[in-house]
Amino acid sequence: MRKPKLRELREAITALVKGPYTSKFPKIAPTVPEHFRGTPTYVPDECVGCGACGQVCPAGAITIADEYRESEGRMVRRIERNWGNCIFCSQCFVYCITGKGIELDKDFEKSTTDTANFIDTHDKELLFCEHCGSVITAKDHIRWITDKLGELAFGNQTLTVARYQELGLTEDITSRAERPLERSDYMRILCPNCRAAYILSDEWGES
Ligand code: SF4
Ligand code: SF4
Repeated sequence: MRKPKLRELREAITALVKGPYTSKFPKIAPTVPEHFRGTPTYVPDECVGCGACGQVCPAGAITIADEYRESEGRMVRRIERNWGNCIFCSQCFVYCITGKGIELDKDFEKSTTDTANFIDTHDKELLFCEHCGSVITAKDHIRWITDKLGELAFGNQTLTVARYQELGLTEDITSRAERPLERSDYMRILCPNCRAAYILSDEWGES
């Protein structure tokens, strides 16, 4: 019984001399450690719309959805981040494929009276299969992969034609063709399913 009392007395004297252990937050913001994981901040110009952050977020704070935009008459990839659901785990920062699409700052005080302030939304333009019309990925994502691969990108017809299109060397001909794939489809932008079907039919004939 005597030991704890002595310890409490020592702590009380230490607190009197050194001041309280607690900080004066929110009056005075505490100094956070160097590697503190604060608020993830989205950097739209460094994001290529791959969707990896949405897949790794354990709290469901990031939603990636390809949706039809009535006002624009086209489909876009909508990336929505609801920082109100964020648990500051930093997985989105760690797994961002460009390494720059999300930055962590030292801020942790996110109180607000309007939860809409927590939500930020951005759109990314999409690339479609020229045969079946399905979504392949965001155009920025394809551009990023092509840049990363350099000359190796010429080994992939979809990447090559997408780059040609960007340079204005070929037309955008998304056709949603009802016909079977044929030889001329080799040098077209195809989704993985149509590319596999093309290779199979080219090698083995129509099944
Ligand atoms: S820090 Fe974690 S919880 Fe917050 S958005 Fe990123 S992955 Fe999701
Ligand atoms: S992982 Fe990075 S590049 Fe991919 S959607 Fe998220 S922020 Fe953008």
